[in-house]
Amino acid sequence: MSDNHFEEEEFTSRVTGGTLWRVAKLGFRRWPLMVGFIVFISATAFFDSYFTYLSKLIIDEGIVARNMERVNSLVLQYGLLSVVQATMVFGFIISAGHLSQSVQYDLRKWIFNHLQTLPFSYYDRTPLGWLMSRMTSDTQRVGELVAWGFLDITWGSMSVLIALIFMLVINWKLGLIAALMVPVLIWVAHRFEVSILGEYRTVRKLNSKITGSYSENITGVRVVKALRREEENLREFEVLSGDMYHASFRAAWLSALFLPAVQLIMAFAIGGVVWLGGYEFQAGALSIGTIQAFISYITFMLWPVQEMARVFASMQQSIASAERIFSLLDMEPEIANKPGAAEVPHIRGDIEFDHVTFYYEENKPVLKDFSLTVKQGETIALVGPTGAGKSTIVNLMCRFYEPRAGQVRIGGRDYTDLTLHAIQSRIGMVLQTPHLFSGTVRENLRYGRLDATNDEIIEAAQQTGAHEFISQLEKGYDTEVGEGGVLLSVGQKQLLSLARAVLAKPDLFIMDEATSSVDTLTEALIQRAMDKVMRGRTSFIIAHRLSTIKRADRIIVLKDGQIDEIGTHAELIHRRGHYYNLYTKQFREEKEKELEQDLFGSNGLALAV
Ligand code: ADP
Repeated sequence: MSDNHFEEEEFTSRVTGGTLWRVAKLGFRRWPLMVGFIVFISATAFFDSYFTYLSKLIIDEGIVARNMERVNSLVLQYGLLSVVQATMVFGFIISAGHLSQSVQYDLRKWIFNHLQTLPFSYYDRTPLGWLMSRMTSDTQRVGELVAWGFLDITWGSMSVLIALIFMLVINWKLGLIAALMVPVLIWVAHRFEVSILGEYRTVRKLNSKITGSYSENITGVRVVKALRREEENLREFEVLSGDMYHASFRAAWLSALFLPAVQLIMAFAIGGVVWLGGYEFQAGALSIGTIQAFISYITFMLWPVQEMARVFASMQQSIASAERIFSLLDMEPEIANKPGAAEVPHIRGDIEFDHVTFYYEENKPVLKDFSLTVKQGETIALVGPTGAGKSTIVNLMCRFYEPRAGQVRIGGRDYTDLTLHAIQSRIGMVLQTPHLFSGTVRENLRYGRLDATNDEIIEAAQQTGAHEFISQLEKGYDTEVGEGGVLLSVGQKQLLSLARAVLAKPDLFIMDEATSSVDTLTEALIQRAMDKVMRGRTSFIIAHRLSTIKRADRIIVLKDGQIDEIGTHAELIHRRGHYYNLYTKQFREEKEKELEQDLFGSNGLALAV
């Protein structure tokens, strides 16, 4: 487990009415389903109580009074109403199922959309595992809470309420005993609810950390092994798992105590009813059917309360899930469109960085008073040691981050006056490790422009020299590239992402060290493709291989976030400064490598399929 600076937000609130209300609102967004669900469930609860009342009538007015006609008509009523009730049960189960799925669907869409608006800085500090469990298990839990959790609670509370009304109407004295039992039950339930929720919050928090560390350990397995961190990671992992075990165990204890406590209260209530009912019966003030009905009502009330108890545990987990989802959804995007920001079809004109200051973390300035004007159509190469600020300039250019001071202007206009979409949709980007999505070659190319025709796709591939290797693939453009494009070489992926950029016809093109991890032959192909993409287009290239940027209009040598040297290749060589040193050093190294290859043979044909 590597250092994980990401800490969960602390949820100090108790069972927050606010969270429950927000979850309920998720359900009410689908109000026809919710209304149907409440109607069906209330009807079911009513019939449950009414059937007990019918039994009392059958005993008192039919059996005890020896009136078989009355028995027949009441039994017939019972049978017919049973069919109606069965329909109601069907109705609430089906509407709950729909509701659960709809809420999950809404939430997933909402989270997915929201994730796309969050700034890069959010992803810098949030582990992937944490986000994944918000999207999957938490979403599912909240969907189930809205449907099945509310179902149990609505059904439970309606059943108890309606049963109480029936009891008070039949006999207010006995009804009062049952009515007194209810607040005691609610109090006990609430005490347990608060304690169980606390434990489950701890469990969820630890679980999230464990998932995060799983994914970190898996993705960073090489580093873990290389640095021999296995034992230490295991120790940290054991502490987390141990804490989780204890918290889960405490939660299980509390859940196990809940039911017996409830049953005990029920037993006292039934005892009270039978005792008082017995006296009243002796005095002739009460029928035998009434005592039987009360025993039934109270015993029946155990069921909804038990159901609610069962649901408490999972519901409380769901509330913890909901809190996490809301905390994610409440995260305001740091970079958002200003009111009245213009949505322009193209970003044209010179790009100016005007006294731009930028830092990721306060007190650690990355760019200091950085100024640069890039002419429309100009190709700018950014060179400099790691950490000099090359990617930061590109990040600011793309408005993934915004300047802390100073301005970036496009065509003379502060770029925060434009919408994010206007800027980002017009930028074509090819990264060092190009990302492909699982799907076919054609689908990946079409990602550049969704309405591109097949001919346009092939033309873009031809222009960038990708067509040749694609044609040699078994299924040509319909070949699956595998998840993340694993079935293709880095060079091939690079050519595809260039073709994708050509297809998108961006106004601004950015290439990040794209040729640093391919062989010379592929590099030449990529170089040709890059020239095609950059022709007449404002472009930024970050490159380590200086030979690839010789043709740039201007080369900027960065050092500690400031411009060290600026000029054409020839000018900088002539100046014999930093660039000259870098270039001659690399030139010598490459010549040595070539010589080595001539002597020992080349293995660089990454494009051979
Ligand atoms: P380059 O691309 O030249 O290697 P960068 O622009 O990536 O340099 O980084 C410049 C400085 O900013 C470095 O000191 C780096 O550690 C820091 N930095 C880069 N990205 C982040 C980030 N997301 N959060 C915090 N610091 C960062």
